[in-house]
Amino acid sequence: MINEGRTGICGVRKNNAGSVELITYGVLSGYALDPVEKKPLYHFYPGTNILSLGSYGCNLRCDFCQNYTISQRISPGFVSRTGIDSILHDAHEAPHNIGIAFTYNEPVIWFEFLSDMARKARKKGLKIVLVSNGYVNREPLDEIISFTDAFNIDLKAFNDGFYKRLTGGSLEPVTNTLKQIAISGKHLEITTLVIPGQNDDEAEMARQTEWIAGELGRDVPFHLSRYFPMYKREDPSTTAGSLKRLAEIASKSLRYVYIGNISSDSGQNTHCPQCGKVVTKRTGYQVKIQNLDRKGSCTGCGTKVYNHFTSFSSSIQN
Ligand SMILES: [Zn+2]
Repeated sequence: MINEGRTGICGVRKNNAGSVELITYGVLSGYALDPVEKKPLYHFYPGTNILSLGSYGCNLRCDFCQNYTISQRISPGFVSRTGIDSILHDAHEAPHNIGIAFTYNEPVIWFEFLSDMARKARKKGLKIVLVSNGYVNREPLDEIISFTDAFNIDLKAFNDGFYKRLTGGSLEPVTNTLKQIAISGKHLEITTLVIPGQNDDEAEMARQTEWIAGELGRDVPFHLSRYFPMYKREDPSTTAGSLKRLAEIASKSLRYVYIGNISSDSGQNTHCPQCGKVVTKRTGYQVKIQNLDRKGSCTGCGTKVYNHFTSFSSSIQN
């Protein structure tokens, strides 16, 4: 229950004389044409761009939030709203753009705007991407799945204590979300931000990735992302060695494991799972598609690597 004149935990819904208003409808905190790899999505039209936008607020309270200036601080003074038609116009003008990504802050909390924007955009042939913490009830998630093409969901740890202590949430709603998306058949990738001493236990990583393989499938791309001290936490940044070790453990269960948010020349490329040829070379956000035909199959052995692929990917250098 939200008291009159007050907002709820996520900060974006206000009780105005008995009716609840989404105060962030059309209010943007970020708006940019990004490589789709930056979401991160590595297996959804690799090498293309996506118009990315986000607002303010969040339904979790992560002590380590890497985006806390927009997620945890809601400025009461924002007035500027962007219209859906103007975003659609930009989306069509943007070079090599596949659609619209809801990212930067938690997209499920501005459901009304998300739903209106996404439905209109899909009618125009644009793809919809959600980058989310997956902390959402079953019924609204069903609706979100109906208008979303691809998800990157954070699995912040495979440990309910971690969620309770550091995020203000709990693990089970997130694992339920992952299962619900996997069953729907929509494209799914998963990210874990590795925080030294908090969720970098090797046995836990083995359990987490065995669970992903068993419940969601071995082909779900998995991103291990480097943490930097931020917001309320001062744990040291994740080391490259730790990310590499965890990636090796994850690779025992999963086919596509990536290391992100780090300048490194390994851990970003995609290999053909059959013959091992490099089919996508990534250096930072430079993407080079190679050894693939126009349908996203390996030219060496014919194995289909990407289910979502556009032939203009191959000519793009982001
Ligand atoms: Zn191959």
